[in-house]
Amino acid sequence: MPEKATARCHCGGVEIEVAFPSRFCAHCYCWSCRTTHAAGVVTWIGFKRAQVRLVKGAELVRDYESSKGTRRKFCTNCGTRLAFESQHGNWADEMHLPLALFVTPVDRAPTVNSFPDERPPWAPMQAFDHA
Ligand SMILES: [Zn+2]
Ligand SMILES: [Zn+2]
Repeated sequence: MPEKATARCHCGGVEIEVAFPSRFCAHCYCWSCRTTHAAGVVTWIGFKRAQVRLVKGAELVRDYESSKGTRRKFCTNCGTRLAFESQHGNWADEMHLPLALFVTPVDRAPTVNSFPDERPPWAPMQAFDHA
């Protein structure tokens, strides 16, 4: 397994490099993720902030404060959602990136469904062996 991976927005203007190990990988069905990404589910892979490096396109990246203390980054050229950051709780030192942006392999697969009670009935859901 390589030690790093690369994520890119749709237009390629923004490139992000992460260093493994990641902290978690999860499908999120919360209303905020679904609406900001215009999707039924958003799959996240989480890292410590220090493990994430913006290698290209800083001038294209903007923040949207989706709730108090929580910011979501996006590319102003193509609209791709790039990252989730929150000052709250365990997440304060982390940056979460959409798994869909990775163009090289990452170190883990999704293991959990977050906020499954907020899942719309039409959204696909991965079943896991554990509860
Ligand atoms: Zn872009
Ligand atoms: Zn969410």
